[in-house]
Amino acid sequence: MATVELKNINKIYGGKVHAVKNANISIEDGEFVVLVGPSGCGKTTTLRMIAGLEDITEGDLFIDGVRMNDVPPKDRDIAMVFQNYALYPHMTVYDNMAFGLKIRKFPKEEIDERVQKAAKILDIEELLNRKPKELSGGQRQRVAVGRAIVREPKVFLFDEPLSNLDAKLRVQMRAELSALHNRLGKTMIYVTHDQVEAMTMADKIVVMRDGIIQQIGSPLHLYNNPANLFVAGFIGSPPMNFLSSTLSEENGRLVADEGDFKVMVPAEFESVLKEYVGKPVVFGIRPEDMEFDESGKGEIQATVDVVEPLGAEIHLYLSTGNNQIIVRTPPQHDFKVGEKVTFRPNLERAHFFDPETERCLT
Ligand code: ATP
Repeated sequence: MATVELKNINKIYGGKVHAVKNANISIEDGEFVVLVGPSGCGKTTTLRMIAGLEDITEGDLFIDGVRMNDVPPKDRDIAMVFQNYALYPHMTVYDNMAFGLKIRKFPKEEIDERVQKAAKILDIEELLNRKPKELSGGQRQRVAVGRAIVREPKVFLFDEPLSNLDAKLRVQMRAELSALHNRLGKTMIYVTHDQVEAMTMADKIVVMRDGIIQQIGSPLHLYNNPANLFVAGFIGSPPMNFLSSTLSEENGRLVADEGDFKVMVPAEFESVLKEYVGKPVVFGIRPEDMEFDESGKGEIQATVDVVEPLGAEIHLYLSTGNNQIIVRTPPQHDFKVGEKVTFRPNLERAHFFDPETERCLT
């Protein structure tokens, strides 16, 4: 068992930089949790506090219900994989993996057994006698993971472990780490600024911004029910379109006016949005939630600025006059730059936000 619980955790560096503000996170045994957010949002600091590499200024950290604030890193039963792998260059792969066990005075036979087992899991048995400089980036990454596995820790921590790999290898290693998690069934906490990594690997995502947790939930929950403008814009690529609008009442129905086109507010949103009549709101619609209307009758009338054909789908950058909109559409039409097109938004999937509080209203 390894649950991890952060209760009102704060980190203030040097009495000045409030890097993590009142973080509350509950991690269940065996969960894969990803902390994600832009550079400087406090995710690495959070991970380092869990590892014990950074003091907790305020709040409580529990692992399996035991308060860990004052427990030294080596006694937390945690292993961390760093972004730069931190391998010892003069040691072989075998010795790099064995090192942590040697200094903990494990018997030789047990060390050997654990290293061989980890090497087999990671498919690096052939590399055990090589030095790190004789390995590719992906192989080094596996060794760094192997060094964590041999420790058989309760909790694995990963700090941007894939950011030094090229795009193709990153995709491959992403799948390998997910498979490793399924195989080991251990609690894993993973830090990245890459929302695709978060979406593809996590059981649960923690989105952070400026030291504050914005939302916690499963990838699909965050995608479909973002709490605010930041989460809505951060999760998903290309990002959600945000259009400043004004709500008005026409013939007993609510209508959102985007300046150069209008959309009917779905009936199920009316009760929450009624109090915003006459006020500005932000209309949010994902690029895939707009359908090409060949008849020219779609609410969104636009000119094609850029066409990005990706094979299975096309990304279009449209201009409606006042607004720029990105659309993801199947390649059912040969779109041309300068072409006049119309799209029909799937309004049941749209979101409305309060521009002041940034909160998602629907
Ligand atoms: P990145 O993706 O760039 O690593 P991050 O989200 O992991 O960013 P942190 O490294 O946790 O962010 O940093 C959070 C804030 O704390 C930043 O403003 C950073 O400048 C500050 N910070 C981090 N370490 C220290 C330190 N040792 N002393 C003072 N401020 C620090």
